[in-house]
Amino acid sequence: MIHSQKPTRDHGSVFDMAQRQFYAAADRLGIESGIRDILASCKREFTVNFPVKMDDGSIAVFTGHRVQHNINRGPAKGGIRFHQDVTLDEVKALAMWMTWKCAVTNIPFGGGKGGVTVNPKLMSIGEKERLTRRYATEIAPLIGTESDIPAPDVNTDGQVMAWIMDTISMHSGYIQPGIVTGKPVAIGGTLGRTEATGRGVMIAAREAAKEVGLDLRGASVVVQGYGNVGFWAAELLHKELGCKIVGASDSTSTVYCQSGLDPTKLNDYKSSTGSLAGFPGTDSVTPAELLELPCEILVPAALEQQITKHNANNVKAKIVVEGANGPTTPEADEILVDNGTKIIPDILANAGGVVVSYFEWVQDTQHLFWDKEEVDRRLEDILVRSFYQVMDMSKRHNCDMRLAALMTAIERVAEATKLRGIYP
Ligand code: NAD
Repeated sequence: MIHSQKPTRDHGSVFDMAQRQFYAAADRLGIESGIRDILASCKREFTVNFPVKMDDGSIAVFTGHRVQHNINRGPAKGGIRFHQDVTLDEVKALAMWMTWKCAVTNIPFGGGKGGVTVNPKLMSIGEKERLTRRYATEIAPLIGTESDIPAPDVNTDGQVMAWIMDTISMHSGYIQPGIVTGKPVAIGGTLGRTEATGRGVMIAAREAAKEVGLDLRGASVVVQGYGNVGFWAAELLHKELGCKIVGASDSTSTVYCQSGLDPTKLNDYKSSTGSLAGFPGTDSVTPAELLELPCEILVPAALEQQITKHNANNVKAKIVVEGANGPTTPEADEILVDNGTKIIPDILANAGGVVVSYFEWVQDTQHLFWDKEEVDRRLEDILVRSFYQVMDMSKRHNCDMRLAALMTAIERVAEATKLRGIYP
């Protein structure tokens, strides 16, 4: 039997952290105990161990997961991560955050997430394709256009989504484009999806800057994690708002340039050399120093638990816009808020990706495709509306944006859960 027991550990597991955030918001909303217990746990947790034929003829067995946290507002939606540190605990946290993210933007999806414990950088393209197709087959009982729709996350991309779609479509005998989002446009993807999460980060930063009276032209930005989200956030903050990108990092390198660097050239450089290190005109700083650089905006866009009680006091940014999921621990949150740092929380700041994934799913299921202007305009409308609904909640309850975003989301999921009722 599950009871509402609040985890208390400092910087504990990632799911612990997600539950602590949930309980803080549920307490403020006065959510009744039975509904709290439902929302505090994941509805379905599915673990698979599966073989992959390696290029040298050997067989390697990998572990993967697919978790559905809550599906009371719609089919489960959430990315698939390939990373050596993936655990069931992490996937559960990411699935819970997806539920809140879909609810805070009011799109009709629940929360899901998947992952395989693997370092895909050590695999050939053929091994990666076989791993993806076998994992897709293993989680086929759960995923589906009407039930659970994966998307890209860390170390997965449009190609991986194309393989998943093809694997499921091969077995059904007809094409099922709506089973994944973040696909290449040529097979039913939507215009604007690749940069959507970064675009959302840019929009969140822009609205937050208005709130704190910060002029973004020339404002300095540091980005941790120069992947899909980090690059596009940097690119759009620079190109559309005139920000100066002064620092960036990936899993192996960190660069700093006080006068600002060209984000497109940095991305091209990373594509050709495999690293940010040595980009002309930049100095190297340590990964720890990067988060503590003087800047107006810090965009953590890598992994969870990067800003902790150990470094939060050293963060100098005026605004932290969370491109990554769960980059700030609850202890760090308190420190940042006390220090007057404005945090735009993950479930709001990086929701652009799932919103445009929703557009992709709508277009796939209707077989009617939109131009990019329509995608961007609708994304802008939803994110700006969501931002000010959260802002309004934060003013009414005199609380920070994270608590306000969670409260906005959890209120909606609790209402849907109650309305559906509990079968006796
Ligand atoms: P990605 O694989 O494209 O990029 C991740 C980047 O982070 C890579 O450059 C990697 O080298 C870097 N990185 C990994 N560990 C690092 C570390 N310890 N320090 C610095 N950099 C590190 O993944 P992505 O899709 O950009 O996802 C990044 C984050 O954004 C994740 O938390 C993900 O869950 C979240 N997110 C992604 C999307 C999306 O649409 N892709 C949507 C919402 C949230």
